Amino acid sequence: MELDISSIRYTEGASFQTTISKNCPPFEWAGEEIRFDQPVTAKLELTNTGKLILAEGHIETVLVVACSRCLELFNLALKVPFRMGYTEHQEQGAASPDEDLEVRLFSGDVIDVTPDVEETILLSLPMKSLCSQDCRGLCAQCGQNLNVQACDCEQDQIDPRLAVLRDFIKK
Ligand SMILES: [Zn+2]
Ligand SMILES: [Zn+2]
Repeated sequence: MELDISSIRYTEGASFQTTISKNCPPFEWAGEEIRFDQPVTAKLELTNTGKLILAEGHIETVLVVACSRCLELFNLALKVPFRMGYTEHQEQGAASPDEDLEVRLFSGDVIDVTPDVEETILLSLPMKSLCSQDCRGLCAQCGQNLNVQACDCEQDQIDPRLAVLRDFIKK
């Protein structure tokens, strides 16, 4: 994901907007392989602030991840903000007036944002992802996916007071 910044490199205040996409290979995270269902797309505005090149916008993609409850794969859409400064001079990076802004070094007319985009995606991954908020998960006893079908084990776990009611309904 390389950005040609030659049009703003020497002009303070100059900026442009750009959208870049890249097909990314699967990666390993928390012991699981995570695939991309769609290319990673970065929509960015690049501005020459005089001190550095500011890249600001957001990153979108769709990942295929396993549900933390039922273990089924599902598509997880991500849209995460992206903000990064790029400088050609080490000392300017250290002197960044904005403490929240991370600054990277670059040289020439091209900034490669790939590592920063990848890092941003990794940092945005939720520790637990659910296929739906009311995912019923797997039966602890037989492993049945309870979203698909109830299993017989449930009857053993039923509240005894409800069991009376259930027997009543059966009659
Ligand atoms: Zn689930
Ligand atoms: Zn079961």
